[in-house]
Amino acid sequence: MTERLYYHDPFLYEFEGEITEVVPAAEINARHGVFLDRTAFYPTSGGQVHDTGWIEPSGSAADPAKLRVADVVEAEDGRVVHYIEADKPPERGARIRGLIDPVRRRDHMQQHSGQHVLSAALVRLFHFPTVSFHMADDYCSIDLDTPNITPAQVEAGEALANEIVQENRPVEIKFVTPEQAQGLGLRKPPRTDKELLRLIDIRDFDLSACGGTHVRNTGQIGCILLRKAERVRQGWRVEFVCGQRAVRTARHDYAALSEAAALLSTHIWDVPQQVRKSQEELRAVRKSAEHLLEELAESEASRLLAQVPAENAFKLIVRVYPDRDLSYIRLLAQKLTRLEEKVVAMLGASSEPPALVFAQSKGMPYDMGALLKETLAELGGRGGGSKDLAQGGAPRVVGLDAVLADAGARLRR
Ligand SMILES: [Zn+2]
Repeated sequence: MTERLYYHDPFLYEFEGEITEVVPAAEINARHGVFLDRTAFYPTSGGQVHDTGWIEPSGSAADPAKLRVADVVEAEDGRVVHYIEADKPPERGARIRGLIDPVRRRDHMQQHSGQHVLSAALVRLFHFPTVSFHMADDYCSIDLDTPNITPAQVEAGEALANEIVQENRPVEIKFVTPEQAQGLGLRKPPRTDKELLRLIDIRDFDLSACGGTHVRNTGQIGCILLRKAERVRQGWRVEFVCGQRAVRTARHDYAALSEAAALLSTHIWDVPQQVRKSQEELRAVRKSAEHLLEELAESEASRLLAQVPAENAFKLIVRVYPDRDLSYIRLLAQKLTRLEEKVVAMLGASSEPPALVFAQSKGMPYDMGALLKETLAELGGRGGGSKDLAQGGAPRVVGLDAVLADAGARLRR
């Protein structure tokens, strides 16, 4: 078994030990696995991610070769494996000094201790038990066993958790037998067959069995900031950040909000109001544009019908419109075929993506759907529709005029 030094002192960032086994890097794992008799490195477990750091030969030259510890995991037999980035694996039996990355460890202690405080606060206030904890690179989350959590409850949980932080309560590590633990009022009954339970005691606030690394006083958590709450399969997931992560996250939020506020020429607190206003304006502009296009199509249709003479007892209108889209030429085709009784319209729009619309007045004998399919097949496009109205997309503008003219000529025959 590896002696886990962080069980007793999570602020131990340097330690000495001996290499008991080395598993050289293989195809399946590109890093050398190193086992020690004792370690202060925390292996990924219980929702908390592993430490990183270095090991170096102990008591040797002034400038010893540091080997990077990139990953730390729990082996199946309960020992701790340190995965090392090095060309050559270190030797079994060598004495080493282990160095924990203190910034990463402090961050993890802040997040993990913050989670204890937050979970306890949500139980105290609303009886929402925490069923799991997840620590990602930039945020953390807990899953709560509750059918609902309101924004007011999120805020109340955050407020109580931060009160506990500000009170700077001692956080103590205790070891008890499972029997002794029974009457102590643990927040969550532990699932373990171990002889001794490690308890984390936040004075007069929370008592939990946990193997992670935690701060000594709640003040070291710094602060706890709750963010997104979302429904998950069995309950609710609440995201949060503590300490320096909370400061970094708030800084990021402020930058994003400031940029949005500058774009809207407003104060950051007025951003939602300004966005709502802009959305309303956009809706009004869209509506008015639709209205204008309708009027434009109507007047264009009247003008065309007045210009084009009837051949073979019907008017055939063949046109390609640059800078117009499918919705406009469809509107125009509908106007043309409704304003008069015997009209066939074959229209193209050359703004991207190019499109075709074929339409005929009700009661005319042709099949616009079939004709459009035939025409588009020449261009390599696809489309279809009914006997009276059909539309489709053309892959390119080149040749649009020519295929439309051909289609018109076929109809005239
Ligand atoms: Zn813990």
